This record gives sequence, C-alpha cells and structure tokens, in this order.
Amino acid sequence: MHSECACCGSQDNGEDVVAHLEFQTKNMGVLLIPDIPHTRCVNCGTALSIPGSSAKLVDIYINSLQSDLVAGLPVGMFIPRAAAIALASTYDPGKFNLRRFENLTYRVKIGSSWWCYKPSVEAYMKTGDGRISLIGN
Ligand SMILES: [Zn+2]
Repeated sequence: MHSECACCGSQDNGEDVVAHLEFQTKNMGVLLIPDIPHTRCVNCGTALSIPGSSAKLVDIYINSLQSDLVAGLPVGMFIPRAAAIALASTYDPGKFNLRRFENLTYRVKIGSSWWCYKPSVEAYMKTGDGRISLIGN
C-alpha cells in the first residue's frame, strides 16, 4: 500500500490492524468503535483505508448504538407512525419519500406498532434531516 497520510504526511507504509477506529457521527459525536480491521498510519495512527467489510461493521455498531439511545428517549415524546407521516408529508408535498423519511428520523417499535420521535420529525420538517443530536441533551 502506498498512500500518504493526510494527517502527518508520512510516506511510510500503513499497517493492517484490528483496533478501535475513531469515527465522527452527525448525531452522537465522535465514537471509538472497537475491533475494526483497517489500515492505519504507522507514524500517527490515523486510519488510511477501511475495507468494505469493516465499513459494514462500523454501520452495524453505529445503528445499534443509535437504537439503544433512541429506545431510552422519553416515551411521551413519541407519536404514532401514521401521524408522523401525515405531518412530514405536508412538509414535503408531492415528493414525500417514505424510505428517506424513515432513514432520517428516529423511531421505536412498541408492541406491534412503530412510534416516531416527535422532535426528530419536527427537525425533518425544518431541515429535511431528523437525525438530531442524541447526546448532551
Ligand atoms: Zn500519519
């Protein structure tokens, strides 16, 4: 592998490791994700490349942490899925995309029905992205 480190400029070869990986998320700050195979700079430790299989592990870790955090939000702040969709589709008339909405907002399953986190739905209606911060609130 022959890549220059963007962080320290080192031209040394990267090393393949299975180690924690620092990852900046939009809604949970910087995460230290454990046991991710990747190539890092031998000089400063910055990740140089992350194989697709590892990117998948990162996704799984982030999604699972996000689910845990959403599940811990106050239950009174959730509204039924149908009501959330009705709200959000008034924001996006004509081009409402359910899949996009569900990818960009938070929800939990209670019993057999889905409930959406209201502040997340409201953020989606304002900015088109309901992934508000899940930490430090
Ligand atoms: Zn470096």
